[in-house]
Amino acid sequence: MLERNGYLTMMNFHILTLFPEMVMQGLHTSILGRAVEREYISIEAVNIRDYTLDKHGKVDDYTYGGGAGMLMQAQPVYDAWRAVSERITARGATPGRVIYVTPQGKTFHQKMAQELAVEEDLTFLCGHYEGIDERVLEEIVTDEISIGDYVLTGGELPAMVMIDAIARLVPGVLHNTDSAMTESFCDGLLEYPQYSRPEIWHDKRVPPILLCGDHAKVDAWRLEQSVIRTRERRPDLYETYCKRTRSL
Ligand code: SAM
Repeated sequence: MLERNGYLTMMNFHILTLFPEMVMQGLHTSILGRAVEREYISIEAVNIRDYTLDKHGKVDDYTYGGGAGMLMQAQPVYDAWRAVSERITARGATPGRVIYVTPQGKTFHQKMAQELAVEEDLTFLCGHYEGIDERVLEEIVTDEISIGDYVLTGGELPAMVMIDAIARLVPGVLHNTDSAMTESFCDGLLEYPQYSRPEIWHDKRVPPILLCGDHAKVDAWRLEQSVIRTRERRPDLYETYCKRTRSL
């Protein structure tokens, strides 16, 4: 739960999509499903098609100027967003940020997830087909975010990826809040290797230092392993980490 002005509030995710069942099924399982049940977060999917004024339920049309594929039209997207905004405003909150998930946006990363996890309401707009009429994007979207340099068929998976990464940072969602603090990217490093029972598996022994019971030694070993791993796998992160630690 998030604390605002002395009150505890949950974080609310709103997803504007043509495939509500896809996002609801995916996001109501496991840890996030339990977080919804315990009211740390809420997730609603709004079917853009429910808002079309077209009597055949159409939400897309050809693009002006020609070209392959169909484009989602402005009207149903705008009206679906307005319905969500009105519901948010009715409970005294401000509609907040509207994220259009698009390969043309800034690339999503852990710091963005941390920054977004303090919002009370976040609305995700999922495109499909060739995307969405630019005019409605200009009117309602505050952020354009991509999950990577590749093109998917729709925005549902990107919205789910982002919601998962953001929601697990909301206090209470993870049982052990420390785990979100020690994971990869939190301090600019990748996480150290981890081991569980048994002590020996396929002739491979758990590093003895992890069994010594000295927490300071274990922490020092883990930091060293994180640094080695980051240097080997992500030289870009390693360079930033070195600059940061040199300037301390
Ligand atoms: N015509 C668009 C372009 O070239 O930029 C791509 C449209 S894509 C086929 C359909 C929808 O999938 C987009 O509107 C967006 O919502 C979503 N999408 C596809 N790839 C994505 C990515 N890498 N990150 C975020 N959203 C993506």
